[in-house]
Amino acid sequence: MKYCSECGTKLIEKECEIDGLVPYCPTCKQFRFPMFNSAISTIIFNPTKDKILLIKQYGKDFNVLVAGYIIKGENAKETLIREIKEEVNLNVIDYTYNDNEYYQPSNTLMHNYASCS
Ligand SMILES: [Zn+2]
Repeated sequence: MKYCSECGTKLIEKECEIDGLVPYCPTCKQFRFPMFNSAISTIIFNPTKDKILLIKQYGKDFNVLVAGYIIKGENAKETLIREIKEEVNLNVIDYTYNDNEYYQPSNTLMHNYASCS
């Protein structure tokens, strides 16, 4: 991040207590920490947990997990429930958090769940 996301001013590096040198906007007088997207993906099991549900998206020829971006003001669990309802019109009965991984191409931290619908 080279420029302030709020005002466009070129950022400088400034010492920030325990975080060391951090990009800083001299106009806003604010540190600008790294920004990235957050999203969820989920393995969707049937109630007997012997099948999973995959979907096709964007006209692609392969199947994928249900996934979606976390929107501003929403937490990851709310996104999980909303995306399953939107994508496959199912209600979540139960879920567990699996893990997360940063995905460089879309600058996204992906949180993965296993859910039962
Ligand atoms: Zn600024």
